[in-house]
Amino acid sequence: MKSYNSFQVAQKQILEAVRILNLNKATRNLLIWPQREFKFTLPVKMDDGSVKVFHAWRIQYSTARGPAKGGIRFYPDERSDTIRALACWMTCKTALLDLPLGGGKGGIACNPRDMSERELENMSRAYIRATAPLLGIDKDVPAPDMYTNPQIMAWMLDEYETIVQRHHPGMITDKPLQIGGSEGRRDATARGGVITVREACKALQVEPATFAIQGFGNAGQRAALLHKEMLGGGKLVGVCDSRGGIYNPDGFDVKDLVTYKLTKGTVKGYPGAKVVDRDAILELDVDVLYPAAMENAITEKNASRIKARMICELANGPTTPEADKILNAKGAHIIPDILASSGGVTVSYFEMVQDSYSYFWEEKEVHAQLDKKLTKAYHTVIEAIREKKVDPRMAATVVAVARVAEACELRGWV
Ligand code: GLU
Repeated sequence: MKSYNSFQVAQKQILEAVRILNLNKATRNLLIWPQREFKFTLPVKMDDGSVKVFHAWRIQYSTARGPAKGGIRFYPDERSDTIRALACWMTCKTALLDLPLGGGKGGIACNPRDMSERELENMSRAYIRATAPLLGIDKDVPAPDMYTNPQIMAWMLDEYETIVQRHHPGMITDKPLQIGGSEGRRDATARGGVITVREACKALQVEPATFAIQGFGNAGQRAALLHKEMLGGGKLVGVCDSRGGIYNPDGFDVKDLVTYKLTKGTVKGYPGAKVVDRDAILELDVDVLYPAAMENAITEKNASRIKARMICELANGPTTPEADKILNAKGAHIIPDILASSGGVTVSYFEMVQDSYSYFWEEKEVHAQLDKKLTKAYHTVIEAIREKKVDPRMAATVVAVARVAEACELRGWV
């Protein structure tokens, strides 16, 4: 099987944006590399008394526009190039949304499914002991990502505050509400994605009647619920997670399916559904496809079989460059990851703001501010598509890179 190096993909995207913007060589050389990278080994006490050593990373891709910002993943096959790419895309996301933040990403190579709650806590705290000097609301602010969640953020916050001996809630986001989290953060990634689908449907006059979701974690589940709620209808006809896929042409009862997933840990075995191959979900004939799993799901192998009219990328980097070309040539409307999945980091920013002045907004205020930001970003990208005559992903990248480059120039770096 062909393996994809996400960082090479990210670098190529930046290079192309630099070319389109006609930026100078120093800016190019600066933007294609992470500003700072850290690699750690974490010794962690396991329940059986043994000590296991985990490999971990934190990469601060750019701090030109503000503190580094981005999640921490727990993933068995983690490697530095993937984190580099994800940190680069975070830089683009925050810039595209015009947030006063840079971009970063972290990860631990581990399989959280094989670990007890206590082992996960020990490992999360070990990660913060290693990274504490790098973190802070004015330096680098982590958040959840694949297989991490608010409970893990709570342990990390506690470890950090124990080390620095003061409260510092804004050093991490998507915390539980009781310790400085924000209303509306949990469903923000999905909500942001659905807002962009709403705008795209209006612009293209598409009816989002049927949809499919690849990946049924936090973002996928929330998108399933919000698609119907925010777009006034739509049938979820196919879903898959890492264990299998299910299909129902009449549409699933979404609430019931989410409850099933939360109790069983998978959608596999859901009563009354046709069992299908995981990958078949991507190829369903639907109006909207939400890839919400992980990078490199849509490749040159399956892109030609994708029938969705609109693709809303809730995952980071789900489409390879070859697949992108195929989909664009077919006329599919791609809402690229750095736009479609930016709702999470946008509300993370709102959380940092609320933590800073220790005054918390109502949920409807968060929703309204998120809607404003995402709607504006969607139309900025559409304008850039027209102006630069490029595909949606390059349009979004060009807008982001121009903003990061301007900050680098203003700082006198280039
Ligand atoms: N992990 C999320 C992302 O990839 C959220 C990052 C954040 O809130 O900092 O966008």
